[in-house]
Amino acid sequence: MLCKVTAPRSEEGDVTATITPATPLTAVDRCDRCGAQAYVRVTLTNGGELLFCAHHMRRYGEELRKVAAEIQDETERLNETTTASAAAEER
Ligand SMILES: [Zn+2]
Repeated sequence: MLCKVTAPRSEEGDVTATITPATPLTAVDRCDRCGAQAYVRVTLTNGGELLFCAHHMRRYGEELRKVAAEIQDETERLNETTTASAAAEER
């Protein structure tokens, strides 16, 4: 009972392993510029990684897109988790 799928499964696995599956940014991820909670992870073409808050992503976004291999943008989460992150921020 082999159910043959047209898309090769093994390849799919390899691809997700190579391109790191988006790890959600958390409260411990901090903007490299100001230390605020990061909502954007920028993977550079040289393998480096930068984190930015929404504010600095807006400021540097244009430049970053030139050198970034991948940009994980979670700024939309700001709208949902405003109260939760604010509470965590207070400590
Ligand atoms: Zn920042």
